[in-house]
Amino acid sequence: MSIKYRRVLLKLSGEALMGDREFGIDPEVVKMLADEIARVVEAGVELAVVVGGGNIFRGVKASASGMDRATADYVGMLATVMNALTLQDALEQQHQIQTRLLSAIEMKEVAEPFIRRRAMRHLEKGRVVIFGAGSGNPFFTTDTTAALRAAEIDAEVIFKATRVDGIYDADPKFNPDAQRYQTISFQQVLVQDLRVMDSTAIALCRENNIPIIVFNVFEKDNIYRAVSGEAVGTYVS
Ligand code: UDP
Repeated sequence: MSIKYRRVLLKLSGEALMGDREFGIDPEVVKMLADEIARVVEAGVELAVVVGGGNIFRGVKASASGMDRATADYVGMLATVMNALTLQDALEQQHQIQTRLLSAIEMKEVAEPFIRRRAMRHLEKGRVVIFGAGSGNPFFTTDTTAALRAAEIDAEVIFKATRVDGIYDADPKFNPDAQRYQTISFQQVLVQDLRVMDSTAIALCRENNIPIIVFNVFEKDNIYRAVSGEAVGTYVS
């Protein structure tokens, strides 16, 4: 196969790891995602992953019930590290793929500190780089982290892995006539408030010319198809 993108940043939300559960991690789903990721890495793609934490803890939600927002966000960031370690384990056990977990909050017993140049070096050596602990700053999200890290490591594209097939003009769950966009501009996403990623993330991608492909990660081979340039999901640029 021909590879269109050599260096990709994959954003996996915490919810992606949850499967059909209400909370936490579904090991079968993690296994499946590790298989999908391995396929593109074995094809020679340099892959970095930003993992979310919403399946375990969300700062905004906790602060709505009275918790201090910054503290809640730090808990959220720690939750992403649990997901990251789980994904790392699956990749290494199932596929003998070399991975490195880089954490934005220092946690030297379980992860390397995030150092940009080190992340680049790992990628050049074919290791999957997993970014944990978000950006290390409260009041941000892992979507924004994905945009930030993608810019820092010169990723050509962000793959936003979701449970739906792309961006629709209405919610397909409620509206049977909802149409999926094949392509859409950053401007349209912002103006129509389409909530693909939060607006800070979209603005960062727009400023740095990093396209986003939004697609269903639960459809087999979609990561692989996206890497080879097939039109999967919705292309935002
Ligand atoms: N978070 C944060 N700063 C960051 C990234 C994440 O404070 O740079 C916190 C925030 O509380 C967020 C939680 O970590 O709710 C989990 O991340 P997110 O909600 O982005 O995960 P996802 O929706 O992708 O599962």
